[in-house]
Amino acid sequence: MTGWAEVGDGVFQRRYDPLDISICVVRGRGGLLVVDTRSSPRQGEEIREHLRELTADPVVAVVNTHAHFDHSFGNQVFADVPIYGHDLVPAHLEAYETPMLAAWVAEGIEPVEEWAAVRITAPTVLVGAEHRLTIGDRVVELRHLGRGHTDNDLVLHLADAGTWIVGDLVEESGPPMYGSGCFPLEWPATVAALARLVGPDDVVVPGHGSPVNRLFVEAQQTQLAGVADLLRELHAAGVPVERACEAGAGRWALPQEGLEPAISAAYEALST
Ligand SMILES: [Zn+2]
Repeated sequence: MTGWAEVGDGVFQRRYDPLDISICVVRGRGGLLVVDTRSSPRQGEEIREHLRELTADPVVAVVNTHAHFDHSFGNQVFADVPIYGHDLVPAHLEAYETPMLAAWVAEGIEPVEEWAAVRITAPTVLVGAEHRLTIGDRVVELRHLGRGHTDNDLVLHLADAGTWIVGDLVEESGPPMYGSGCFPLEWPATVAALARLVGPDDVVVPGHGSPVNRLFVEAQQTQLAGVADLLRELHAAGVPVERACEAGAGRWALPQEGLEPAISAAYEALST
């Protein structure tokens, strides 16, 4: 798509197709932190090439905002530096991304060579609720605020730049995506926690789309909460899972066509 955009002081975002994925870079003295790695080693290598437009300084660390393939399948080209991710990323990779990749390879899904080249590479430094990372002269706070888009979402806070990099907890170019390993009933509380931390003038970089602000985060939280409330209501009313989507027609706070994974995950959570 376009080049690097400086979204905060020394914090850059580049939006890549496919999937309009946000790749972010934090420039510290003497080195770069790369946030997320795209969907394949070829795509990861392309990030590396594009980094030279910013500086000749080396990449010194990588963070995965979560395990989904479009954020982590380029990890192998950054295997020379520490890769940070939440404690539960390896389990998610094993449960969801590994079988999905195997199916794509077996079925010959395009781009065949790119999928065949992926060696799923888990983060090498696992973090829990909080971790403080230094990149040269800069401090980057990693926070896990609860379950939501997955059970392994990390947000990055650059207090010195008033900037947050939040992965897919927030999306701008499309509605929030309920995908593999999502927690639709818990997601609203997690984004509410984020909204409480974000300052009124802070910049929030979503996993897909343009940077947003606290008001946007609050509005998206309201939509996620609306979906969660209706899921609870339909379940409590005894509406069967296969009829829930239609039964809520006209009342869903987000586009109905993306809700099947949310419905099945919520029903499962409510039934156990
Ligand atoms: Zn995701």
